[in-house]
Amino acid sequence: MTKRLYVKTYGCQMNLSDSEKMVGLMAAKGYQLTDDELEADVLLVNTCSVRERAEEKLFSLLGQWNQLKAKKPSILIGVTGCVAQQEKDHVRKRAPYVDLVIGTHNFHDLPDLLDEVAQTGSPITRIGNLKAPIPDDLPTMREGKYHAWVPIIYGCSYFCTYCIVPYTRGPYQSRQPEAIAREIADLTAEGFKEFTLLGQTVDKYGLDLPEGDKTTLAALLRLVAALPGVERVRFLTSHPLDMTEELVATVAELSNVMEYFHFPIQAGSDKVLGEMKRLYTVDQYREKVAMIRRYLPDATISGDIIVGFPGETEEDFAATLAIVDEIDFDSNNTASYSIRPWTPAGKREDQLSEDVKADRLRRLNQLTTEVAFRRNRRLVGTVQELLVEGPSAKNPEVLMGRTRGNKQCFFPGSPDLQGQLVKVEITEVRPFTLRGELVRTAVPLELAL
Ligand code: SF4
Repeated sequence: MTKRLYVKTYGCQMNLSDSEKMVGLMAAKGYQLTDDELEADVLLVNTCSVRERAEEKLFSLLGQWNQLKAKKPSILIGVTGCVAQQEKDHVRKRAPYVDLVIGTHNFHDLPDLLDEVAQTGSPITRIGNLKAPIPDDLPTMREGKYHAWVPIIYGCSYFCTYCIVPYTRGPYQSRQPEAIAREIADLTAEGFKEFTLLGQTVDKYGLDLPEGDKTTLAALLRLVAALPGVERVRFLTSHPLDMTEELVATVAELSNVMEYFHFPIQAGSDKVLGEMKRLYTVDQYREKVAMIRRYLPDATISGDIIVGFPGETEEDFAATLAIVDEIDFDSNNTASYSIRPWTPAGKREDQLSEDVKADRLRRLNQLTTEVAFRRNRRLVGTVQELLVEGPSAKNPEVLMGRTRGNKQCFFPGSPDLQGQLVKVEITEVRPFTLRGELVRTAVPLELAL
Protein backbone atom coordinates (compact mmCIF):
# COMPACT_ATOMS: atom_id res chain seq x y z
CA MET A 1 0.00 0.00 0.00
CA THR A 2 1.26 3.51 -0.84
CA LYS A 3 2.60 5.34 2.20
CA ARG A 4 1.61 8.93 2.78
CA LEU A 5 3.68 11.88 3.94
CA TYR A 6 2.39 15.07 5.54
CA VAL A 7 4.76 18.06 5.74
CA LYS A 8 4.33 21.26 7.73
CA THR A 9 6.83 24.02 6.93
CA TYR A 10 7.54 27.06 9.08
CA GLY A 11 9.75 30.02 8.23
CA CYS A 12 11.54 31.39 5.21
CA GLN A 13 11.68 30.51 1.51
CA MET A 14 14.86 28.53 2.13
CA ASN A 15 12.87 26.24 4.41
CA LEU A 16 10.14 25.94 1.76
CA SER A 17 12.81 24.96 -0.73
CA ASP A 18 14.30 22.35 1.67
CA SER A 19 10.80 20.91 2.19
CA GLU A 20 10.29 20.66 -1.57
CA LYS A 21 13.49 18.60 -1.74
CA MET A 22 12.46 16.32 1.14
CA VAL A 23 9.10 15.71 -0.54
CA GLY A 24 10.92 14.99 -3.83
CA LEU A 25 13.25 12.50 -2.11
CA MET A 26 10.33 10.76 -0.41
CA ALA A 27 8.29 10.69 -3.64
CA ALA A 28 11.26 8.94 -5.28
CA LYS A 29 10.88 6.27 -2.56
CA GLY A 30 7.20 5.84 -3.43
CA TYR A 31 5.62 8.11 -0.80
CA GLN A 32 2.63 10.23 -1.72
CA LEU A 33 2.18 13.73 -0.32
CA THR A 34 -1.07 14.30 1.60
CA ASP A 35 -2.61 17.44 3.07
CA ASP A 36 -4.51 15.40 5.66
CA GLU A 37 -2.55 14.63 8.83
CA LEU A 38 -5.07 11.90 9.74
CA GLU A 39 -4.16 9.69 6.79
CA ALA A 40 -0.38 10.19 7.01
CA ASP A 41 2.15 7.46 7.81
CA VAL A 42 4.94 10.01 8.26
CA LEU A 43 4.43 13.44 9.83
CA LEU A 44 7.27 15.83 9.19
CA VAL A 45 7.75 19.37 10.45
CA ASN A 46 10.44 21.60 8.98
CA THR A 47 11.13 24.16 11.68
CA CYS A 48 12.15 27.80 12.02
CA SER A 49 13.94 29.30 15.01
CA VAL A 50 14.17 32.92 13.91
CA ARG A 51 11.55 33.86 16.53
CA GLU A 52 10.58 32.35 19.83
CA ARG A 53 6.90 32.15 18.87
CA ALA A 54 7.64 29.82 15.94
CA GLU A 55 9.23 27.40 18.41
CA GLU A 56 6.17 27.44 20.65
CA LYS A 57 3.96 26.67 17.65
CA LEU A 58 6.22 23.69 16.94
CA PHE A 59 5.71 22.10 20.35
CA SER A 60 1.98 22.64 20.22
CA LEU A 61 1.90 20.89 16.81
CA LEU A 62 4.03 18.02 18.11
CA GLY A 63 1.60 17.59 21.02
CA GLN A 64 -1.28 17.14 18.56
CA TRP A 65 0.74 14.66 16.51
CA ASN A 66 1.53 12.67 19.66
CA GLN A 67 -2.21 12.16 20.11
CA LEU A 68 -2.45 10.82 16.54
CA LYS A 69 0.48 8.50 17.24
CA ALA A 70 -1.27 7.21 20.37
CA LYS A 71 -4.16 6.06 18.14
CA LYS A 72 -1.93 4.77 15.32
CA PRO A 73 1.50 3.79 16.78
CA SER A 74 3.02 3.02 13.34
CA ILE A 75 3.08 6.76 12.54
CA LEU A 76 6.62 8.17 12.39
CA ILE A 77 7.23 11.78 13.44
CA GLY A 78 10.23 13.75 12.17
CA VAL A 79 11.54 17.20 13.08
CA THR A 80 13.93 18.87 10.64
CA GLY A 81 15.33 22.37 10.06
CA CYS A 82 16.69 25.11 12.29
CA VAL A 83 15.14 24.10 15.65
CA ALA A 84 16.31 20.52 15.12
CA GLN A 85 19.81 21.77 14.32
CA GLN A 86 20.02 24.12 17.25
CA GLU A 87 17.89 22.47 19.96
CA LYS A 88 18.06 18.74 19.36
CA ASP A 89 18.29 17.92 23.09
CA HIS A 90 15.42 20.26 23.92
CA VAL A 91 13.25 18.62 21.24
CA ARG A 92 14.13 15.15 22.56
CA LYS A 93 13.31 16.24 26.12
CA ARG A 94 10.04 18.04 25.41
CA ALA A 95 8.82 15.59 22.76
CA PRO A 96 10.41 12.18 23.47
CA TYR A 97 7.92 10.50 21.11
CA VAL A 98 9.61 12.14 18.08
CA ASP A 99 11.26 9.44 15.94
CA LEU A 100 13.67 11.54 13.92
CA VAL A 101 15.53 14.80 14.56
CA ILE A 102 17.47 15.94 11.48
CA GLY A 103 19.66 19.05 11.13
CA THR A 104 19.73 21.60 8.32
CA HIS A 105 22.62 19.93 6.47
CA ASN A 106 21.20 16.40 6.65
CA PHE A 107 17.70 16.65 5.20
CA HIS A 108 18.80 14.59 2.18
CA ASP A 109 19.31 11.60 4.56
CA LEU A 110 15.59 11.60 5.44
CA PRO A 111 14.44 8.53 3.41
CA ASP A 112 17.28 6.30 4.68
CA LEU A 113 16.86 7.44 8.27
CA LEU A 114 13.12 6.75 8.13
CA ASP A 115 13.83 3.21 6.89
CA GLU A 116 16.27 2.74 9.75
CA VAL A 117 13.78 3.95 12.37
CA ALA A 118 11.03 1.76 10.91
CA GLN A 119 13.32 -1.31 11.07
CA THR A 120 14.91 -0.75 14.49
CA GLY A 121 12.10 1.09 16.28
CA SER A 122 14.74 3.32 17.89
CA PRO A 123 14.70 7.10 17.51
CA ILE A 124 17.53 8.75 15.57
CA THR A 125 19.14 12.17 15.83
CA ARG A 126 21.31 13.23 12.88
CA ILE A 127 22.96 16.63 13.18
CA GLY A 128 25.88 17.15 10.83
CA ASN A 129 28.72 19.59 10.37
CA LEU A 130 27.43 22.99 9.23
CA LYS A 131 30.44 23.40 6.95
CA ALA A 132 29.63 20.19 5.05
CA PRO A 133 28.58 20.78 1.43
CA ILE A 134 24.89 20.37 0.63
CA PRO A 135 24.44 17.84 -2.19
CA ASP A 136 23.21 19.03 -5.57
CA ASP A 137 20.79 17.50 -8.07
CA LEU A 138 18.34 16.19 -5.43
CA PRO A 139 14.87 15.23 -6.70
CA THR A 140 12.48 18.06 -5.84
CA MET A 141 8.71 18.27 -5.85
CA ARG A 142 7.75 21.94 -6.34
CA GLU A 143 4.70 23.55 -4.85
CA GLY A 144 4.09 25.84 -7.83
CA LYS A 145 3.68 25.10 -11.54
CA TYR A 146 5.23 28.23 -13.04
CA HIS A 147 7.37 29.73 -10.29
CA ALA A 148 10.29 27.91 -8.63
CA TRP A 149 12.52 28.76 -5.67
CA VAL A 150 16.14 27.99 -6.52
CA PRO A 151 18.71 28.22 -3.70
CA ILE A 152 22.03 29.52 -5.00
CA ILE A 153 23.78 30.15 -1.69
CA TYR A 154 23.31 28.42 1.67
CA GLY A 155 24.06 29.77 5.14
CA CYS A 156 25.34 33.16 6.24
CA SER A 157 28.63 34.46 7.62
CA TYR A 158 27.50 37.87 8.87
CA PHE A 159 26.55 37.23 12.53
CA CYS A 160 24.15 40.14 13.02
CA THR A 161 23.86 40.25 16.81
CA TYR A 162 20.14 39.33 16.95
CA CYS A 163 20.17 36.54 14.39
CA ILE A 164 20.38 32.81 14.84
CA VAL A 165 20.79 31.85 11.16
CA PRO A 166 24.63 31.57 11.13
CA TYR A 167 24.34 29.14 14.07
CA THR A 168 21.66 26.99 12.46
CA ARG A 169 22.72 27.09 8.81
CA GLY A 170 26.48 27.60 9.03
CA PRO A 171 28.82 29.77 6.99
CA TYR A 172 27.73 30.72 3.51
CA GLN A 173 28.47 28.42 0.59
CA SER A 174 27.60 29.06 -3.05
CA ARG A 175 26.44 26.42 -5.49
CA GLN A 176 28.32 26.02 -8.76
CA PRO A 177 26.72 28.10 -11.56
CA GLU A 178 26.54 25.05 -13.85
CA ALA A 179 24.43 23.16 -11.30
CA ILE A 180 22.06 26.12 -10.97
CA ALA A 181 21.77 26.53 -14.74
CA ARG A 182 21.11 22.79 -15.14
CA GLU A 183 18.34 22.88 -12.53
CA ILE A 184 16.67 25.88 -14.17
CA ALA A 185 16.98 24.46 -17.69
CA ASP A 186 15.28 21.24 -16.50
CA LEU A 187 12.50 23.29 -14.89
CA THR A 188 11.82 25.28 -18.06
CA ALA A 189 11.34 21.96 -19.85
CA GLU A 190 8.59 21.20 -17.29
CA GLY A 191 6.87 24.55 -17.99
CA PHE A 192 8.33 26.71 -15.20
CA LYS A 193 8.79 30.34 -16.26
CA GLU A 194 9.77 32.36 -13.22
CA PHE A 195 12.70 31.66 -10.90
CA THR A 196 13.64 33.26 -7.60
CA LEU A 197 17.31 32.77 -6.79
CA LEU A 198 17.56 32.35 -3.02
CA GLY A 199 20.16 33.07 -0.41
CA GLN A 200 20.33 34.68 3.03
CA THR A 201 22.88 37.09 1.53
CA VAL A 202 22.26 36.48 -2.12
CA ASP A 203 24.52 39.26 -3.42
CA LYS A 204 27.54 37.45 -2.00
CA TYR A 205 26.95 34.71 -4.53
CA GLY A 206 30.06 33.20 -6.09
CA LEU A 207 32.70 35.04 -4.09
CA ASP A 208 33.50 31.97 -1.96
CA LEU A 209 33.91 29.52 -4.87
CA PRO A 210 37.40 28.09 -5.40
CA GLU A 211 39.97 30.26 -7.18
CA GLY A 212 39.28 30.03 -10.92
CA ASP A 213 35.55 29.39 -10.33
CA LYS A 214 34.84 32.67 -8.50
CA THR A 215 31.94 34.59 -9.98
CA THR A 216 29.23 37.12 -9.03
CA LEU A 217 25.48 37.33 -8.83
CA ALA A 218 25.52 39.68 -11.84
CA ALA A 219 27.33 37.01 -13.91
CA LEU A 220 24.89 34.33 -12.72
CA LEU A 221 21.93 36.53 -13.71
CA ARG A 222 23.37 36.81 -17.21
CA LEU A 223 23.79 33.04 -17.42
CA VAL A 224 20.30 32.26 -16.13
CA ALA A 225 18.50 35.02 -18.06
CA ALA A 226 19.96 33.70 -21.33
CA LEU A 227 18.51 30.19 -20.86
CA PRO A 228 15.67 29.45 -23.31
CA GLY A 229 12.25 29.55 -21.64
CA VAL A 230 13.30 31.73 -18.69
CA GLU A 231 10.70 34.50 -18.68
CA ARG A 232 11.41 36.01 -15.28
CA VAL A 233 14.23 35.97 -12.73
CA ARG A 234 14.29 37.44 -9.22
CA PHE A 235 16.71 37.17 -6.34
CA LEU A 236 16.51 37.62 -2.57
CA THR A 237 17.58 38.50 0.14
CA SER A 238 20.08 41.32 -0.40
CA HIS A 239 22.43 42.69 2.25
CA PRO A 240 22.91 46.45 1.74
CA LEU A 241 26.67 46.12 2.19
CA ASP A 242 26.95 43.78 -0.79
CA MET A 243 24.67 45.49 -3.33
CA THR A 244 26.99 46.61 -6.16
CA GLU A 245 26.46 49.03 -9.02
CA GLU A 246 27.35 46.21 -11.41
CA LEU A 247 24.44 44.17 -10.02
CA VAL A 248 21.91 47.01 -10.28
CA ALA A 249 23.09 47.84 -13.82
CA THR A 250 22.69 44.19 -14.78
CA VAL A 251 19.12 44.11 -13.44
CA ALA A 252 18.39 47.28 -15.44
CA GLU A 253 19.91 45.83 -18.60
CA LEU A 254 18.34 42.36 -18.67
CA SER A 255 14.66 42.60 -19.55
CA ASN A 256 13.76 39.25 -17.98
CA VAL A 257 15.36 40.10 -14.62
CA MET A 258 12.69 41.77 -12.49
CA GLU A 259 13.18 45.25 -11.01
CA TYR A 260 12.44 43.99 -7.51
CA PHE A 261 14.81 44.33 -4.54
CA HIS A 262 14.26 42.77 -1.14
CA PHE A 263 16.61 45.09 0.68
CA PRO A 264 16.34 44.93 4.49
CA ILE A 265 17.28 48.01 6.50
CA GLN A 266 16.30 46.55 9.94
CA ALA A 267 16.44 49.91 11.83
CA GLY A 268 16.55 53.64 11.12
CA SER A 269 19.04 54.64 13.82
CA ASP A 270 22.80 54.39 13.32
CA LYS A 271 23.21 53.54 16.98
CA VAL A 272 20.89 50.52 16.68
CA LEU A 273 22.33 49.46 13.32
CA GLY A 274 25.81 49.51 14.89
CA GLU A 275 24.64 47.41 17.83
CA MET A 276 22.94 45.01 15.44
CA LYS A 277 26.31 44.73 13.61
CA ARG A 278 24.63 45.39 10.30
CA LEU A 279 27.86 47.03 9.04
CA TYR A 280 26.20 49.99 7.26
CA THR A 281 24.79 53.34 8.32
CA VAL A 282 21.44 54.85 7.41
CA ASP A 283 23.22 57.19 4.98
CA GLN A 284 24.96 54.30 3.25
CA TYR A 285 21.60 52.54 2.94
CA ARG A 286 20.07 55.71 1.46
CA GLU A 287 22.88 55.92 -1.09
CA LYS A 288 22.27 52.34 -2.22
CA VAL A 289 18.54 53.01 -2.62
CA ALA A 290 19.38 56.16 -4.62
CA MET A 291 21.64 54.05 -6.84
CA ILE A 292 18.83 51.53 -7.46
CA ARG A 293 16.38 54.34 -8.29
CA ARG A 294 18.91 56.06 -10.56
CA TYR A 295 18.95 52.96 -12.77
CA LEU A 296 15.36 51.84 -12.13
CA PRO A 297 13.14 54.71 -10.96
CA ASP A 298 10.11 52.44 -10.54
CA ALA A 299 11.85 49.51 -8.87
CA THR A 300 9.92 47.81 -6.10
CA ILE A 301 11.83 47.91 -2.82
CA SER A 302 10.73 45.84 0.14
CA GLY A 303 12.46 45.57 3.49
CA ASP A 304 12.71 43.85 6.85
CA ILE A 305 12.51 45.83 10.08
CA ILE A 306 12.93 44.77 13.70
CA VAL A 307 11.48 46.96 16.46
CA GLY A 308 12.31 46.74 20.14
CA PHE A 309 15.97 45.75 19.80
CA PRO A 310 17.59 45.88 23.30
CA GLY A 311 18.20 49.48 24.35
CA GLU A 312 16.13 50.96 21.48
CA THR A 313 14.88 54.36 22.67
CA GLU A 314 11.74 56.15 21.54
CA GLU A 315 14.07 58.43 19.56
CA ASP A 316 15.70 55.44 17.83
CA PHE A 317 12.26 54.12 16.99
CA ALA A 318 11.16 57.53 15.64
CA ALA A 319 14.18 57.35 13.28
CA THR A 320 12.91 53.97 12.03
CA LEU A 321 9.48 55.45 11.33
CA ALA A 322 11.12 58.39 9.54
CA ILE A 323 13.21 56.19 7.25
CA VAL A 324 10.19 54.03 6.32
CA ASP A 325 8.38 57.19 5.25
CA GLU A 326 11.42 58.57 3.43
CA ILE A 327 12.43 55.42 1.52
CA ASP A 328 8.84 54.82 0.40
CA PHE A 329 9.03 51.05 0.85
CA ASP A 330 6.56 49.02 -1.18
CA SER A 331 6.29 46.62 1.75
CA ASN A 332 8.11 45.61 4.89
CA ASN A 333 8.33 42.39 6.84
CA THR A 334 8.10 43.74 10.36
CA ALA A 335 8.77 41.94 13.62
CA SER A 336 9.35 42.75 17.24
CA TYR A 337 12.73 41.68 18.57
CA SER A 338 12.78 38.21 20.09
CA ILE A 339 15.63 36.84 22.24
CA ARG A 340 17.43 34.04 20.45
CA PRO A 341 19.84 31.67 22.20
CA TRP A 342 23.58 32.09 21.54
CA THR A 343 23.18 35.57 20.08
CA PRO A 344 24.99 38.55 21.67
CA ALA A 345 21.81 40.68 21.72
CA GLY A 346 19.97 37.91 23.58
CA LYS A 347 22.44 38.25 26.46
CA ARG A 348 21.92 41.99 26.92
CA GLU A 349 20.30 43.21 30.09
CA ASP A 350 18.50 46.20 28.56
CA GLN A 351 15.71 44.12 26.96
CA LEU A 352 12.50 46.08 26.35
CA SER A 353 9.15 45.03 27.77
CA GLU A 354 6.72 43.09 25.59
CA ASP A 355 4.27 46.01 25.90
CA VAL A 356 6.74 48.53 24.48
CA LYS A 357 7.67 46.16 21.65
CA ALA A 358 4.02 45.45 20.80
CA ASP A 359 3.17 49.16 20.77
CA ARG A 360 6.09 50.00 18.46
CA LEU A 361 5.25 47.12 16.15
CA ARG A 362 1.64 48.34 15.92
CA ARG A 363 2.77 51.88 15.04
CA LEU A 364 5.29 50.61 12.49
CA ASN A 365 2.73 48.34 10.85
CA GLN A 366 0.30 51.21 10.56
CA LEU A 367 2.90 53.39 8.84
CA THR A 368 4.09 50.53 6.62
CA THR A 369 0.51 50.05 5.41
CA GLU A 370 0.04 53.78 4.73
CA VAL A 371 3.31 54.02 2.80
CA ALA A 372 2.55 50.87 0.79
CA PHE A 373 -0.88 52.26 -0.10
CA ARG A 374 0.72 55.53 -1.20
CA ARG A 375 3.17 53.61 -3.41
CA ASN A 376 0.42 51.53 -4.95
CA ARG A 377 -1.83 54.51 -5.70
CA ARG A 378 0.64 55.73 -8.30
CA LEU A 379 0.04 52.52 -10.25
CA VAL A 380 -3.64 53.27 -10.95
CA GLY A 381 -4.06 53.69 -14.71
CA THR A 382 -0.72 52.05 -15.58
CA VAL A 383 -0.43 48.81 -17.49
CA GLN A 384 1.46 46.06 -15.70
CA GLU A 385 2.87 42.78 -16.96
CA LEU A 386 1.69 39.79 -14.89
CA LEU A 387 2.62 36.15 -14.80
CA VAL A 388 -0.73 34.49 -14.10
CA GLU A 389 -0.42 31.97 -11.27
CA GLY A 390 -4.03 30.72 -11.09
CA PRO A 391 -7.51 31.49 -9.79
CA SER A 392 -7.87 33.58 -6.66
CA ALA A 393 -8.58 31.59 -3.50
CA LYS A 394 -11.91 33.43 -3.02
CA ASN A 395 -13.36 33.58 -6.52
CA PRO A 396 -12.56 31.08 -9.32
CA GLU A 397 -13.56 33.64 -11.97
CA VAL A 398 -10.84 35.99 -10.80
CA LEU A 399 -7.20 35.24 -11.59
CA MET A 400 -4.12 36.17 -9.60
CA GLY A 401 -0.79 37.11 -11.11
CA ARG A 402 2.33 38.90 -9.95
CA THR A 403 3.68 42.10 -11.44
CA ARG A 404 7.34 42.51 -12.30
CA GLY A 405 7.60 44.24 -8.92
CA ASN A 406 6.20 41.11 -7.18
CA LYS A 407 2.83 42.66 -6.28
CA GLN A 408 -0.20 40.41 -6.33
CA CYS A 409 -2.78 41.61 -8.85
CA PHE A 410 -6.33 40.23 -9.28
CA PHE A 411 -8.36 40.50 -12.49
CA PRO A 412 -11.34 38.74 -14.10
CA GLY A 413 -10.14 36.29 -16.73
CA SER A 414 -10.30 32.83 -18.23
CA PRO A 415 -8.44 29.92 -16.56
CA ASP A 416 -6.64 29.35 -19.91
CA LEU A 417 -4.43 32.31 -19.04
CA GLN A 418 -2.72 30.41 -16.22
CA GLY A 419 1.03 30.34 -16.71
CA GLN A 420 0.95 33.14 -19.30
CA LEU A 421 2.38 36.63 -19.28
CA VAL A 422 -0.46 39.13 -19.74
CA LYS A 423 -0.93 42.90 -19.60
CA VAL A 424 -3.39 44.31 -17.09
CA GLU A 425 -4.50 47.91 -16.59
CA ILE A 426 -4.62 48.75 -12.88
CA THR A 427 -8.03 50.10 -11.88
CA GLU A 428 -7.99 49.87 -8.10
CA VAL A 429 -5.36 49.42 -5.42
CA ARG A 430 -5.15 48.37 -1.79
CA PRO A 431 -2.08 48.65 0.42
CA PHE A 432 -0.66 45.28 -0.59
CA THR A 433 -2.69 44.15 -3.61
CA LEU A 434 -3.81 45.51 -6.98
CA ARG A 435 -6.93 45.00 -9.07
CA GLY A 436 -7.18 45.42 -12.83
CA GLU A 437 -8.65 44.61 -16.22
CA LEU A 438 -7.02 42.54 -18.91
CA VAL A 439 -5.61 44.61 -21.78
CA ARG A 440 -6.49 42.75 -24.94
CA THR A 441 -4.55 44.78 -27.48
CA ALA A 442 -0.78 44.90 -27.80
CA VAL A 443 0.67 47.41 -25.37
CA PRO A 444 3.87 49.36 -26.01
CA LEU A 445 6.52 48.13 -23.60
CA GLU A 446 7.28 51.54 -22.08
CA LEU A 447 3.69 51.74 -20.81
CA ALA A 448 4.04 48.38 -19.14
CA LEU A 449 6.99 49.37 -17.00
S1 SF4 B 1 22.70 38.84 7.20
FE1 SF4 B 1 22.33 39.01 9.41
S2 SF4 B 1 20.07 38.86 9.55
FE2 SF4 B 1 20.62 38.04 7.55
S3 SF4 B 1 20.83 35.83 7.88
FE3 SF4 B 1 22.87 36.74 8.09
S4 SF4 B 1 23.13 37.09 10.28
FE4 SF4 B 1 20.94 36.78 9.90
